[in-house]
Amino acid sequence: MQQPPFKPESLMMSHGYQPELSEGAIKCPIFQTSTFVFRSAEEGKAYFELAYGLREPEQGEAPGLIYSRLNNPDLEILENRLCLWDQAEDCAVFESGMSAISTAMLTFLKPGDVLLYSSPLYGGTSHFITEVLTKFGIEIQPFAPGESATHIQQRAEREGWGERLAMVHIETPANPTNVQIDIRAMRELADRWGTEERPVYLAVDNTYMGPLWQHPLRHGADLVLYSATKYIAGHSDVIAGACLGSAELLKEIKALRTFLGNMAGPWTGWLLMRSLETLKVRMEQQCRNAREVARFLQQHPKVENVHYLGLLTESDGEEYRIYREQCEAPGAMLSFEIHGGEKEAFAFLNHLKLAKLAVSLGSTESLAQHPASMTHAGIPAEERERMGITERLLRLSVGVEHAQDLIWDLEQALEQVG
Ligand SMILES: *Cc1c(COP(=O)(O)O)cnc(C)c1O
Repeated sequence: MQQPPFKPESLMMSHGYQPELSEGAIKCPIFQTSTFVFRSAEEGKAYFELAYGLREPEQGEAPGLIYSRLNNPDLEILENRLCLWDQAEDCAVFESGMSAISTAMLTFLKPGDVLLYSSPLYGGTSHFITEVLTKFGIEIQPFAPGESATHIQQRAEREGWGERLAMVHIETPANPTNVQIDIRAMRELADRWGTEERPVYLAVDNTYMGPLWQHPLRHGADLVLYSATKYIAGHSDVIAGACLGSAELLKEIKALRTFLGNMAGPWTGWLLMRSLETLKVRMEQQCRNAREVARFLQQHPKVENVHYLGLLTESDGEEYRIYREQCEAPGAMLSFEIHGGEKEAFAFLNHLKLAKLAVSLGSTESLAQHPASMTHAGIPAEERERMGITERLLRLSVGVEHAQDLIWDLEQALEQVG
């Protein structure tokens, strides 16, 4: 019988690992080592020649293990496994999502370049762009998720920065409102200004959908970025990040990672490999729960607007079209407005008994928070209002608990709201 191409979830327990190299251990051990012993001086020389790109690898020659800032089995096997979900050629894992994002930006941006980005972005990314990149002479151009590619295009022409555009960085769906950006339209925009010698790279921070529900590389992105702290790790117990894309681009990113020294260590690599074995079952359960929670909230008299991709219908026009083209499932992140203001929103949060009052997302336990005073507190109030991040908006990351228990919890907390 011919072997079918196995699905990623079937390969998460074994891909890239050879038990015979580790005393037959069924699981990849934690290679808690800083350096690796060469069998001979000639072997050491050959490894360094490849690491420094002094010659091309010979047929079937793989890079050897040298030093854990460059490579380590826990890091390499994890990267091979992460590639399967996004069908990427290569992957680089970092000690945090922020280090993945900042390293990708620093790899492809230089003084005089323009970075176009969607706003709001994750707070850390936003701070890095506005406070750090600008110090190095990089010009920044934010745009709202609702602004069309055509409109941005006209702005670039009118304001004369199109020729200097070097990178586009987006988050879709936007956190916490779930407003989407058409990845293909952004690809066209990047190609309008990019040339062969001076390509414009499109990076998508896909943390909000994780590696299961949206695959930006298939829709024209050059790079997909993750805070692996969220769905990938999935248990609120480790900080990590990842960047995926073509072998060509990842080679440059990995080179800078080597010199910044912000790669993930073996322990982080091992934890993420353990998490990946259950990625699909966790995320599917979270999505099933989120659909039920969204439906419950939608009919509740104290709730006004529920922002969840799974509630979009044809009457939502463009949003629905993008969702159908770009997403494979509606995810497990939702936000909603309750009647009242901050007082009512806080009363709701303070009365939750099962869901935890905490920021972050994508974990096994459900998490609830108040974006206006927590994750998005850094944005000026006026701008926040414009983005739809009101005082009565609440964000939920739905976990793997029983849906009935979650709905009970939300219902009793809503009952406590005056
Ligand atoms: C959490 C998060 C980050 C930052 O990741 P860390 O792992 O905390 O460094 C970046 N982008 C998004 C969308 C996030 O949710």
